[in-house]
Amino acid sequence: MADFQKDQSGRYITTGLSPRQFDRVFDAIHQDRQKRRRRKARQLTPAVLKNKSLDEILKLGKKQVGTFFTKDDLKGFEQNRKTVRKQFTGTQPGITHAQLVAHSRSIDVKRANNKVDDGSGISNAAFKGIRQNIALIDVTASQRSVHNNHRVEIRFEEWDQAMDDAAGNNVAAQQRLVKNMVKGRVSVNCDCGRYQYWYRYIATAGNFTIAPPKEFVYPKLKNPQLEGVACKHIIHALTRMQGAGWQSRVLMTLRKNAQGEHYGDDPKKTTEYFSDEEIKRLNRNRKSQIDQRAARAEFDRYQSRLDALAGKLKAVDKQQLATTRKQLIKARTVTQREQARREAAQKKLSQARAERDALKQQLADTLKMQKQVFIDAQVMAGKTPEEARRAYADHVKNKLGK
Ligand SMILES: [Zn+2]
Repeated sequence: MADFQKDQSGRYITTGLSPRQFDRVFDAIHQDRQKRRRRKARQLTPAVLKNKSLDEILKLGKKQVGTFFTKDDLKGFEQNRKTVRKQFTGTQPGITHAQLVAHSRSIDVKRANNKVDDGSGISNAAFKGIRQNIALIDVTASQRSVHNNHRVEIRFEEWDQAMDDAAGNNVAAQQRLVKNMVKGRVSVNCDCGRYQYWYRYIATAGNFTIAPPKEFVYPKLKNPQLEGVACKHIIHALTRMQGAGWQSRVLMTLRKNAQGEHYGDDPKKTTEYFSDEEIKRLNRNRKSQIDQRAARAEFDRYQSRLDALAGKLKAVDKQQLATTRKQLIKARTVTQREQARREAAQKKLSQARAERDALKQQLADTLKMQKQVFIDAQVMAGKTPEEARRAYADHVKNKLGK
């Protein structure tokens, strides 16, 4: 990796870089941070959260109010995580723009709108490139920040679907398509401390962070109640993406990729860094302010559509279940009836066999008796037993011969 310049306090200088260098320097920042994290200790990991052993809890140190963490604190944290998972994890990854704005802390929205007067507001962002399905946005850090820039990444989770549909010639339809895609499910990332210490844990639980990195260490000090979802940089960047200018650039890439013969995720072919001129042109088109109230209303509508759909699915399931149950009962009755019929037939058959065997035996006994009577009579009449038996054999032969 190329060496990037650092300032006196050891921070990378991120201004005045080409989009490619800009992207790389933030990869380097991530690498450094990952190294530091490997050495860290005393974190509220999922294991500590689950087991709640007193030793481990004491090792976590003190809360901001100066007292040690307790088992009850950890129980509350577990509950918060469950709530977040329930709130954000659907079957698919990502969060919609309306959902992101609606669930953000209002202070983050105010800062993203530059509606604060303490120097923490955001006023500039530049769309610098697209890495496969991830938009790269350079957000100028606030006045009071120690940083120059932040890299916000936005991954469009409905990209593949959109690429399928982007191949046609109907421009209006394609514009609608991109508009819906950038408004739809996205995953996000920002290198700032706010996202790292407040929100990445929530975004990991809710499956809308771009990973790596995933965050499983509970933000026990910074955001114990798990409030909000994204930093001002992400809110600002994703809102700017709702403007027609940036969307037209996304559409260009979609159309280009739809025509490409390379793999759809070939990094060499699907990474584009924009020229300075293009970045300037894209910056002319500025989306207006973020309206959190409108976003909340839109999210509520979206949620109620989802709920209605879930309700319908449930009703269908219920009906299906009832039908299946009925069919099962019917099948069971048929089986029982058939079984009874077979058992009765079997019984009848056995009876008939027994009767037949009895008759056979009776016949054999009668014949035996007749034979004896015949032979005895012949012997009494003066024949030898041998002669009598022969006479009987002749008698039987004659009888059969008739
Ligand atoms: Zn940020």
